[in-house]
Amino acid sequence: VKRLIRDALTHPRVLPLAFPLTRGATPVFMLHRFADPASGGGAGHDPDALRANLAWLRRHRFSLLSLAELFDRLRSGEPVYKSVAFTVDDGFADFAQRGQPVFAEFDCPVTVFLATSFLDGHCWLWWNQVEYLVTATRQGGVMLDHGPDRWEYRWSDRAGRDAAILDITERLKRVPEADKRALIDRLGTALDVPLPATPPPDFTPMSWSEVRRCARAGVTFGPHTRTHPVLSRTGDVQAADEIAGSWRRVRDEAGNAALPVFCYPNGDDDSFGERDIRLVAEAGLTAAVSTNQGYATRRLFLAGRPLARFAVPRMPYIEEGTFFVQMAGGLERAKRALRRAVSPARRR
Ligand SMILES: [Zn+2]
Repeated sequence: VKRLIRDALTHPRVLPLAFPLTRGATPVFMLHRFADPASGGGAGHDPDALRANLAWLRRHRFSLLSLAELFDRLRSGEPVYKSVAFTVDDGFADFAQRGQPVFAEFDCPVTVFLATSFLDGHCWLWWNQVEYLVTATRQGGVMLDHGPDRWEYRWSDRAGRDAAILDITERLKRVPEADKRALIDRLGTALDVPLPATPPPDFTPMSWSEVRRCARAGVTFGPHTRTHPVLSRTGDVQAADEIAGSWRRVRDEAGNAALPVFCYPNGDDDSFGERDIRLVAEAGLTAAVSTNQGYATRRLFLAGRPLARFAVPRMPYIEEGTFFVQMAGGLERAKRALRRAVSPARRR
C-alpha cells in the first residue's frame, strides 16, 4: 500500500501539486564521490543518474541557485520558491573528472568543500586509510584496544570485511583525534599492511589547478578543515588551525571562487559544538553547513539568531528511486510536516 501511495504521489502529473510546498524552504543537497561506470563503477554517485535529476529540475523550471545566492536571498528575505542548491564535500579528484562536467551541462552552480591538506598532498583521508588497510587483507582479523574497550574483528569474505570497515570507521569518529591516528597506525601494523605516503588512485584529491579550472567554469569552493578531523574530538589549538588554516588555503588557491561558508567534517550534532561555531565566525566565515537533515530557511538567517546560520542543515543526495524528486519537489516537506503532526515530540 505504501508503495502504491508513493507511486501515485510521485506520478509526473501529481508531483507538481506539491510544488507550492517548496516556498521558503530550499534543500541544499550534499554529495561526495562520483562513480565511473565506464570502468566498473567504484564508489560514488552515477553521473547518468545525476544528469537525469538535473534534467528533471530544468524541465520543471526549478531555480538552481549557488549557495552564495541562496544564502543572500535568505538573509535579505527575498522569497525562494522551487529552488535547490548543490554541495560536494571533501575534494576528491572524481569531482573534477566526472562530477563538474555534468553540473556544467545543466549550467548548475555547485559549491565544493575542500579538506585543504588533502589537496596539498600532506595527508589522505583517514577513513580511506581504514578501508585501504582492511581491504588489503582478503581474510583475517584484528584486535584493537582503546582504554578499557576491545574491538575485535574477524572476516572471511567481502561482506564481513565491509562490516569491519564500517564499524572501525564509526568507532574512530568517537575517539580523541590523537588516539584515532595511533589506532590507524596500529591497525596497519596488526594487519601487516604498510600505508603508502600518498593516496592510491581511488582516493586521490583534485589538484589545485583542477580547482582553478572548475572555478573558471563557475564552481565555488569553501573550507572543510585541513585534515578532516571530527572537530569535537580535537583540542582548541588544532581546531582553530584546522578551521582558519583551511579557509586561508582556499582563499590563496581559489581566489575569487572562494566562498566564506564552512562545512563541518562528519557534520552531525555530535561532531561540532559552540567552540567550533565561534572559531568559524572568528575566522571571518559568514555561515556554515552541517550534515543534519533539513531545509535551508529564512529562519536560520534572522538577526535574532546569530548562531543558526552556522549550522545550516542539508539533504542527502539519494539517487535511488524517487527520493530526489520528493526532496526537491516539496513532497518530502509534506511528509515531514505530517510526521511532526502525528508525533509532535519527534525531532525535526
Ligand atoms: Zn567531509
